[in-house]
Order: sequence, then C-alpha cells, then structure tokens
Amino acid sequence: METYLVGGAVRDRLLGLEVHERDWVVVGATVEAMLAAGYRQVGRDFPVFLHPESGDEYALARTERKSAPGYRGFVVHASPEVTLEEDLRRRDLTINAIAEGPDGALIDPFGGVEDLRLGRLRHVSPAFVEDPVRVLRCARFAAQFAHWGFRVSHATHKLMREMVDAGEVDALTPERVWAELERALTTPTPARFFEVLQRCGALARVLPELDPLLGPTPESHAGSDDARPRALRALDRAATLDASPEVRFAALVLPLGEAGPVESLCARLHAPHAYRDLGRLAAAHHPAVRDAAQLAPDALLELLQRLDAFRRPGRLADLARAVQADDQDALETPYPPAERLLTAHAAAAAVDASDLAASGLDGPQIASALHDRRVAALAALS
Ligand code: ATP
Ligand code: MG
Repeated sequence: METYLVGGAVRDRLLGLEVHERDWVVVGATVEAMLAAGYRQVGRDFPVFLHPESGDEYALARTERKSAPGYRGFVVHASPEVTLEEDLRRRDLTINAIAEGPDGALIDPFGGVEDLRLGRLRHVSPAFVEDPVRVLRCARFAAQFAHWGFRVSHATHKLMREMVDAGEVDALTPERVWAELERALTTPTPARFFEVLQRCGALARVLPELDPLLGPTPESHAGSDDARPRALRALDRAATLDASPEVRFAALVLPLGEAGPVESLCARLHAPHAYRDLGRLAAAHHPAVRDAAQLAPDALLELLQRLDAFRRPGRLADLARAVQADDQDALETPYPPAERLLTAHAAAAAVDASDLAASGLDGPQIASALHDRRVAALAALS
C-alpha cells in the first residue's frame, strides 16, 4: 500500500502558494485494509476516507468511465490493481494530475510540471468532456492564475466548446454553478472566469442573465482595458480593492441597471441572500449612489430609505464600494459618495424621536415629523 499527495496541494506547493488542504491517493489498498488501519470511510459514490488524526482525505486509486449522459452517470472502479497513473488520468487538468511520493519525488505522467512552467491549462485526456464541471473548474483556474499569465490551451478550449455545443453544460446543477462562481469571485482576476465561459459559449447557457454584460466576443476587446466591458472592469477593480465576494458580485451585476435579472439569477442558483440583496441594490440604485455627494438633503434621505439603510446599515458601505469599483474616475479612498452616504446615515439615524411618541401624534404624523427632523439634520451637514 502506497500513499501519494495529489491534486491542488502539489500544484499549489509548486506554485509557491500556501497549501490549504491535502488530498491523498492510496494505491494497492482495499476498503477493509483502510478501515483496519483506522481510517473512517466518508465517500458514498467511491471509497474516500478521513485520516483518524489529520482529517485529510485519502481516496483509493480509481478509474472512472462515463456510462450515461448527464451529470452523475459514472462507473467508478476502485481496486488494489488500479495504478497511480490510471488514477491521475481521470483528473481534469495536467496541473492537477501531479503526484508526490513519500520520498518527495514527483510523478507527472501528463506533463503538469511543464504546464505549470508555461502557464498552460490543459486537459489530461479526451475524457475531459465527460464531466461539465470541468468547464467551470477550468475557467476558475484561469481566473486564479491569470496574473501569472496562465491561459486555457487551444485544444482544451476546443473541447470546452464541443461540450457546450453538445448541451453537456446544461446538465450542471445550480448549486455547482454557484459554488464555482463564488470561488471564482475570490480570485485575483475574477473577470477571467466569465471571459473564459463566454469564449467557449458556456456563459449564455449557464449564466444567461450575465451574458448581455459581456457584449461581443472577448477577442473584440482583447488588449485594451478601455474597450473591456464595464462589468468586467468593475469586477476586477473590486478585486483590486480587496472587496468581499458579495461586493465583487455587486460590481459585476451593477451595469444590468435593474434588479430583475439579479433576482432571477440568484433565485435560480440558490445564491445566498447577501449576494442577492447587495446585487439588486447596486443594479437598481448605482447612479444615485454615485451622485450622493451632490444630492440635496431630502433626496439624500430618500436614497437612504430606498437603500433600506436604517434597517440594514451595514450594507451601505458595501454598496458604496461596489459603486466605487465601477466608477472610472475614482479609485482613491475615501470615496466621496461613500463618505457622504455614511455621514448622512449616521446623522439621520442619530435624530432623537423619543418625544414624538409621547406627543399624541398619530403614526403618519410621527413619521412625517421624523422625516422633517432628519432632513434638517442632513441640511445641517452641508
Ligand atoms: P482547490 O482545492 O484549490 O480548489 P483542487 O484542484 O485541489 O483545487 P479539489 O476539488 O480539491 O480541487 O479536487 C482535488 C483533485 O481532484 C483535483 O486537483 C483534480 O485532480 C481532481 N478533480 C476534482 N474535481 C475534478 C473533476 N470534476 N474532474 C476531474 N478531476 C477532478
Ligand atoms: Mg483541493
């Protein structure tokens, strides 16, 4: 029984990145032998175990063969006879198909080390087409490593396009699309994820609400940042500002200009509400937020109310950050509209209304009096 480190841990260590999880493959073992050695079985579809102490995942070497169309139709074969190379061959990209032995030697039958050096995202075998998740993963790695010059190889891109044309990506579950999208948002250049998906045709199939944001083909704006679609520039700038994934998402969907498509996208993908809420506010209200520094007190108060700032004050700074990412002319911090909105919110929220309740006024009268006091508080600011 031999154990090898595989996948992301080997790749990331070779790239000089911090390794956050370790996956191992075990060759020449049986389920019984693993259980006898104290491992705990967790895999339902194939034999995966947790190490009793480290908690790392250990998978028996296996092969996979597509048996039916769609997403789950795989026949998995795990046995002590399956070799390390066979296990590596079922993997998606060559950079993810490098193994490291106990002595530290690399086992790299598909040229993954060379592809790491060349910055090439390349499929391991034609079986790549058997799992549409790989289209999303490939786009995500393109976004993760774009700043080091990584590109999807032509041959792999061609396969991805064939998968799209064959309708394979239509079988992706909403949960998986969202999971990969959310991970892509945290990368240094998230716009690449969407560019790669557009280029192979997957964007229109899996994220149709976003397709209009990207305009014509990526080739048409290659090389010139000014010619890039606004949504992509805003998204990458949000990443440069080190904004949270929710803010990055809001910067991306902001040019949609209305809440509807954001809501349908988020509902379809079961996205967390924090994304939906910030995204729809950004799409619907970004022009007013951008002009906040020029708004008169009553308009400013109305904007704060439309943004639900008195019930959800935490969102205001996030929203302003998404708008800042989209604003060509403003990268400096503090961003004047953000300052204005936050200062105004603090002043309006601090207005004391305790005497109004005891005054004998009815509900609408109290609301109106509170409104007037808040407008006065904002007027006193400027
Ligand atoms: P990270 O964990 O940083 O996202 P990773 O490459 O480790 O990257 P995992 O999902 O942890 O991703 O998968 C571990 C390994 O399993 C991958 O490196 C790859 O070799 C293989 N793998 C994962 N998903 C697939 C897939 N859909 N098709 C083929 N191989 C896959
Ligand atoms: Mg991993």
